[in-house]
Amino acid sequence: MQLPIPEPYRIKMVEPIYPSTRKEREQWIREAKYNLFNLRSEQVIIDLLTDSGTGAMSSAQWAEIMLGDESYAGASSYYKLKQTIKDIFGFDYFLPTHQGRAAENVLFSTLIGVGNAGVGKLVPGNSHFDTTKGHIEFRGAHAIDCTINEAFDTQVEHPFKGNVDLEKLEKVFKTYPREQIPVCMLTITCNSSGGQPVSMENVKAVSGLCKKYKVPLYIDSARFAENAYFIKIREPGYQNKTIPEIVRELYSYADGMTMSSKKDGIVNIGGFIGFRDEETFKKASTFNIMFEGFNTYGGMAGRDMGALSVGLREATQFEYLESRINQVAYLGKKLTDAGIVVQRPYGGHAIFVDAKRFFPNVPKEEFIAQTLGIELYKEGGIRGVEIGTLLADRDPETRQERYPALELLRLAIPRRTYTNAHMDYVAAALINLKERSAEIKHGYRIIREAPIMRHFTVELEPVQQ
Ligand SMILES: *Cc1c(COP(=O)(O)O)cnc(C)c1O
Repeated sequence: MQLPIPEPYRIKMVEPIYPSTRKEREQWIREAKYNLFNLRSEQVIIDLLTDSGTGAMSSAQWAEIMLGDESYAGASSYYKLKQTIKDIFGFDYFLPTHQGRAAENVLFSTLIGVGNAGVGKLVPGNSHFDTTKGHIEFRGAHAIDCTINEAFDTQVEHPFKGNVDLEKLEKVFKTYPREQIPVCMLTITCNSSGGQPVSMENVKAVSGLCKKYKVPLYIDSARFAENAYFIKIREPGYQNKTIPEIVRELYSYADGMTMSSKKDGIVNIGGFIGFRDEETFKKASTFNIMFEGFNTYGGMAGRDMGALSVGLREATQFEYLESRINQVAYLGKKLTDAGIVVQRPYGGHAIFVDAKRFFPNVPKEEFIAQTLGIELYKEGGIRGVEIGTLLADRDPETRQERYPALELLRLAIPRRTYTNAHMDYVAAALINLKERSAEIKHGYRIIREAPIMRHFTVELEPVQQ
């Protein structure tokens, strides 16, 4: 009998979960204005809102917390992190920031400019993450999505659905002059299109096009290790390469990176920007000092930089990645076997339930994926997140709703946090809901929304009381 793959760690500390009732949850979600972000964590049984900052740190990381050097300038924790970044990604220069979006703010201030400097400018890439798009649009620029068409059909099996369509990208480069394209942003894995990876071949080709048209290539790297795992498993020629070797090659094609350390850094808070070129680093340093903090701590405590320097290395261990990605696939398979349509192939950090197929009778104007999120919370106290019309937000110029091709409920799995018994519970709750799904014909309407990134604070009410 082939031995199953056990988690390559054991549990030393546990946190209790409050087992709420459906009646309690119905009241709480009403009080939360049907926005899952407004729930208190005690009101949630299994929290799959995000894998961001929610992972469990290792004993080695906690040990680094105690070794943290809190010096304002030149802390040893900074130099530990600098060495890790150099070893893993090959970048000589880096700036710590308090999280990924802060890295975007500093980088785009440097490459696009501040205020309205982005008007008329374009940032091509593959399904930019919401904060990335937010920072681009906040400056008046536009994010152009050049992801391959296969990404927009949840049922197409493609090993690298995060890939950039090279023709779409080259068309942008050919149509607009270089001055209008300050940077190309490649996201690995591609969060917004389902945690789907980008192949090494595609990264190389994108890099080739960027060089040809003299546009710098930056990699939005939140899940770089998971992407490297998929390259090893799925891309011919990489089976015998180690994860660190794959990561080094991948970053050799880029000019720099932004990082949300809350994902594959396996820490609770943190981010950074990596640069190949000293001049861009120096220019960005000014913004970093203004927005984040002095260059050797940015937005981070010394102890957090120490924990991150260990977390980045742990995230590139094959056994850890295998166990993590297998857990995500374990949940995916349970749902698929029960006839629930989820994004295929399964993503690296999350399962994305196809909400249009789950609730075929809810009209698109009534926020289908959000409706599924609310129903799943009521059913089992499980908190997912909408990746649909609320997230896609209105067009910044016309203010019209931008209905995306997919309405997805993302169930993000925190790193090293839940067991497969928790996954069984999640699957059972969705299967119960699926049995009643045809009866649900109405969703929600907006009663209050913010002008940008509305999904975090939106307030809703049921269309049918
Ligand atoms: C989370 C994330 C960000 C933003 O990072 P924060 O740490 O949440 O600010 C940017 N890009 C991607 C792909 C992400 O997943």
